[in-house]
Amino acid sequence: MATARTALPHAPVYASDQAHYSVGKAARLLGLQLITVASRPDGTMDPGDLRCKLHQQTDQFPGAIVLATIGTTMRGAYDDVTLLRDAAAMFGDVYVHADAALGGFIAAHAPSLPRWSFRHGADSVSISGHKMIGMPVPCGVVLARRHLVPDVSSAEYVQATDRTLGCSRSGLAAVLMWSALRRLGYTGMRTRVLGCLDVARYAADRLAEAGTRPSRPTDSVVVCFDRPTPEIVDRWHLACEGDRAHIVTVAHVDRAAVDELCADLSRMRR
Ligand SMILES: *Cc1c(COP(=O)(O)O)cnc(C)c1O
Repeated sequence: MATARTALPHAPVYASDQAHYSVGKAARLLGLQLITVASRPDGTMDPGDLRCKLHQQTDQFPGAIVLATIGTTMRGAYDDVTLLRDAAAMFGDVYVHADAALGGFIAAHAPSLPRWSFRHGADSVSISGHKMIGMPVPCGVVLARRHLVPDVSSAEYVQATDRTLGCSRSGLAAVLMWSALRRLGYTGMRTRVLGCLDVARYAADRLAEAGTRPSRPTDSVVVCFDRPTPEIVDRWHLACEGDRAHIVTVAHVDRAAVDELCADLSRMRR
């Protein structure tokens, strides 16, 4: 978002009501105006409402930083970067950041080919390492188009390029992530993603049998279902919002775990 602000200094940030809470935090720190766009029933940002919000704003605040979410936190939906860029384009300059913390690695291999990355119109992309890659420490990668990244001039004595806000940072995290990506390779990552999607599909079927009204966006590893009793929420550490809970089928969540959860849910219902 700091890179976006450098490119479009006066543009507000447009993010959906499903965007991660860190977007609000970053907007506050950067002094950026945050405009919340409605989401559609499937959890994606509504391009019609984006147009509507832009129409209300652009006389006063030209340009738009559109913050797309690739794999929304609660429902796992993929915003359509191409659609959102097109919707915003008639109102002036647009910068699109794809927050692909959870969903980037999945979208890259998903059979339905979500439009989420640089070739679909993103200017920058962020992906976490402790989600789909399963790193034991928080880490991630941020990529931006070359012309948007300033040439670095860090102090000579550190002998390193430094584009981050903090100065000292974990080299261990970077090495762990590099090593995991080298080990998995493209094929390994693809196999992992397709496996996770398979478990998500399985979970949706089992949760339906358990009578919990599951919902799952196409090619998502997030499955939402009716919020169970507090005992089950506690035992399974389920993330809840209102009357719904969700599970995220990252790599260590296997069919056996899904079966066990569903057995618990069925027992409670009886
Ligand atoms: C997890 C997540 C974040 C936060 O990323 P961290 O790397 O855990 O700090 C931001 N946005 C989305 C959509 C997420 O899923």
